[in-house]
Amino acid sequence: MVNLTIDNRKIEAEAGQTIMEAARENGIVIPTLCSHESLEPSGACRLCVVEVEHGKRTSVVTSCLYPVAEGLTVKTKSERVMDVRRLVLQLLLARCPESQQLKEMAEDLGIEPEPRFTPDKDNSKCILCRMCVRTCEKVVGVCAIGFSYRGAEKNVCTPFKEDSVSCIGCGACAYVCPSGHIEMETTESGDARTIWGRTFKMKTCKVCGRYFAPEDQLVYISQKTGVPVEDLAVCTSCR
Ligand code: SF4
Repeated sequence: MVNLTIDNRKIEAEAGQTIMEAARENGIVIPTLCSHESLEPSGACRLCVVEVEHGKRTSVVTSCLYPVAEGLTVKTKSERVMDVRRLVLQLLLARCPESQQLKEMAEDLGIEPEPRFTPDKDNSKCILCRMCVRTCEKVVGVCAIGFSYRGAEKNVCTPFKEDSVSCIGCGACAYVCPSGHIEMETTESGDARTIWGRTFKMKTCKVCGRYFAPEDQLVYISQKTGVPVEDLAVCTSCR
C-alpha cells in the first residue's frame, strides 16, 4: 500500500493503481470522457488532468495513466488544473459544438456556451477518443470500425465508409461513445436495429418474447463459444 494526499485528504491506495482509480475509490470525482472499466486507460480525452507534487516538482498529468506513489500530493481542482481542463473542453467543443454531453460538461466547468475557437464546419460529434474502436476490437473482438483520414478530417468509420460486413450490430460502440456521435436506431416494435449503415434483424427471447439481440450477434457468440445458437435465445433478464 502507498500513502498519498488527494485534495488535502490522506488516502491509502494499492501500489500500481492510477490516481483516478484511487480517487474514485475514495469518492473523489475526476471528470473524464474516455475511461471505461472494460478498457485499458488511454489518456485520450485529457480531461482527467490533475496537478501532482512530488518533492519540489509539480506537474500536470493525466490521472487515468499516472500511478500513485508514496508521498504524492494531488490536486484535482487547482487553478492550473481547471485552466487546462477548460482549454481542452473548449477545443473539444470547437470540434463537436452540437454534442449535448460536452455542453453539459462545459456548463459544469463554467464555460460559456459560445465556442472560444472556430467551430468545425462538419459539425461532427466525434471527439476521437477511440473508445468505440477499442471496444469493438478488444471487448467484442470484431474490428469492424477504425479511423480514416488525418488531422482535422480524421474520423471514425467503417472500412472505406461502406457497410461493414464484419459488424454484428451489438451496439457496444454506441453504448461507450461519450459524445453521442454513434447513432443506433431501433424500430418501434424492436424487430430491427440500424447502426453503421446496416440494419440487423433482432431475435426474440424464447421465454419473455421480447426482442433482445441481433441475430448476427448470437451467431457470432455461438461461433466463438461453441454454444449452439438455439441455446442463446434467452435474454439476460430471463436467464
Ligand atoms: S455494433 Fe458493430 S462496430 Fe459497433 S461494437 Fe458492435 S460489432 Fe463493433
